[in-house]
Amino acid sequence: MTRFVITAPRVITCDPARATEADALGVIEQGAVLVEGDTIAAVGTAVEISDRAGDAQVMAHDGLLTPGLVDAHTHAPFTGSRHIEYALRMAGAGYEEIAAAGGGIVSTMRAVRAAEATALTHELEWRAKRMHDHGVTTIECKSGYGLDLANERKQLEAVARASIAWPRLVPTYLALHALPPEANGDGDAYAERVAREWLPEIATAKLARFVDAYVDRGAFTVEQARLVLSRAKELGLGVRVHAGQFADVGAAELAAELGAASADHLEHVGERGLEAMAAAGVRAVLLPVASFTLKQEPPPIDAMRRAGVRLVVASDANPGTAPTESLPLAIALAVRSYGLTVAEALLGATREAAASLGLEHVCGALRPGLSGDFAMWNLPHEAAIVQPWGVWPVRAIIAKMAAYVFDLRSEL
Ligand SMILES: [Zn+2]
Repeated sequence: MTRFVITAPRVITCDPARATEADALGVIEQGAVLVEGDTIAAVGTAVEISDRAGDAQVMAHDGLLTPGLVDAHTHAPFTGSRHIEYALRMAGAGYEEIAAAGGGIVSTMRAVRAAEATALTHELEWRAKRMHDHGVTTIECKSGYGLDLANERKQLEAVARASIAWPRLVPTYLALHALPPEANGDGDAYAERVAREWLPEIATAKLARFVDAYVDRGAFTVEQARLVLSRAKELGLGVRVHAGQFADVGAAELAAELGAASADHLEHVGERGLEAMAAAGVRAVLLPVASFTLKQEPPPIDAMRRAGVRLVVASDANPGTAPTESLPLAIALAVRSYGLTVAEALLGATREAAASLGLEHVCGALRPGLSGDFAMWNLPHEAAIVQPWGVWPVRAIIAKMAAYVFDLRSEL
């Protein structure tokens, strides 16, 4: 079994057992992590760890060490470009106006339907690789651009095939995203068909861990989403909700009623919805790149804190409203535009994100028993992750990969 130690002048554990009032991130100065196989065996100061490391190989990193980042909301299995629509939007056209004219989600639907399965898989693999290069070791991947059974399956199968390598991919069937043209505007009939025919088939094929629905003005109704998401729960799947991006139509309350893992966006949400979410343990997934692109006001962060809602920060990577693959950019905007503290934003992209994916016992923190996923930053301090922007100061490593590298070295 491969054993190795990573030492760093500043180790951000994100371990709640180490957190204090003054240090929410559980920082260890001159810290070290001992990895055995692909699992973290011990975390502590370099002195403590060297006592039990024995003959383990040591990698001395001279910057910041954090858990591998967890991106809990992406639409990564897509193809095609929507740059023309972006230019139109910058010239003043609204998102809902573009969608009504056949742009938006439906234009990506056309590209995904036209794509060969292998091409879609390769594009996802390359995108995941680039996201990994930004420090991300776990990526939630939503379908939702096929909009019929065969093409939703094609997207989810691309996620399954791309998962054979790394980083870790978590598949979500975004069952209600937009109406395809052949639905003739009949959202009730579409939701009925999803719940009765498509969802059971996707669940049986084990192609998704979560099911998601876009509940908003101009999207799907609370009733349509309740039908699909409660069926998902009966089939043993977790649920997530796109909630309150453009209007508060009661999606946060629905997420609470269903015990959803997350309600995402939430630019428009009331106190009642937030209290219901907090009581039900529904996390808020904040998507600051999307609201930046759409020139929206931030969500009510203070009200979220007052209600006790746990905050997640994600990229929302998609070709329309969040044209990025960078979770560090989303973290930077969460601090700059939403007023999160650096600690809130980092926890939101590690431990809280992992918990929203049901992976709190797998990743998202540096503590014994979790997978050895690391992001090694060429930075002196976590505050340097959010300033400057748009740079690429990370070298990510996942333990399986490290084990491979060390095995290779010992053969040389
Ligand atoms: Zn989304």
